[in-house]
Amino acid sequence: MPEKKRRVLLKLSGEAFGGGQLGVNPDVVGSIAREIAEATAEVEVAVVVGGGNFFRGAELSQRGMDRGRADYMGMLGTVMNALALQDFLEQAGAATRVQSAIAMTQVAEPYIPLRAERHLEKGRVVIFGAGAGLPYFSTDTVSAQRALEIGAVEVLVAKNGVDGVYTADPRVDPTATKIDTISYQEALQRGLKVVDSTAFSLCMDNGMPMRVFGMEPAGNVTAAIRGAAIGTLVTS
Ligand code: UDP
Repeated sequence: MPEKKRRVLLKLSGEAFGGGQLGVNPDVVGSIAREIAEATAEVEVAVVVGGGNFFRGAELSQRGMDRGRADYMGMLGTVMNALALQDFLEQAGAATRVQSAIAMTQVAEPYIPLRAERHLEKGRVVIFGAGAGLPYFSTDTVSAQRALEIGAVEVLVAKNGVDGVYTADPRVDPTATKIDTISYQEALQRGLKVVDSTAFSLCMDNGMPMRVFGMEPAGNVTAAIRGAAIGTLVTS
């Protein structure tokens, strides 16, 4: 029987896709895709993409929209990012499938966990779009859920602008220091917001480790996928 490969769930924020702006920055998505493609020979990679470069439901609802409808807009944004990533991954030579939690069969397969696992076994990168298909959830939480359901060994949360979990927000507090390892319990108690609390609790309750790391410098995404001990490890 062939040796079982390492399987990971990579979370990419929408903010990264936009390079800090609305929409998709092809240079940024192209370089992330090449980094993922480089590791697909040895590692099975599933990806959850965020949508913050298009819409965040909570922000739209603060400006008067119905929260549920605004969240669906947010989820649709993640599908656009999923298609963009798919395109650049294919250009980089990787085989891919997009699975969406909201049915849209012309552009993506529906989310079928066993089928996703089969794609991964065949060396395809599986990109999960549309979050959980549920308002009031975030793509961080979906990353934890998908990682658990498809049997990933860890959730890799790639961040831009920060290279791990800090004692406080380093962009606000200059005395903040980086933490190498921390428990979910402590991260929750300290109110560290690098990943949302629902994602932390789901991982904590189910013994799923999470590595939070910076996308910079180039090569970090490939290294994290291969198992490099960069950034911060969060464990139960
Ligand atoms: N969203 C949702 N349910 C989900 C996942 C996402 O309602 O299961 C919506 C929510 O409005 C969120 C938006 O999609 O603000 C974009 O996702 P997220 O904020 O997690 O993206 P990121 O911050 O990672 O770019």
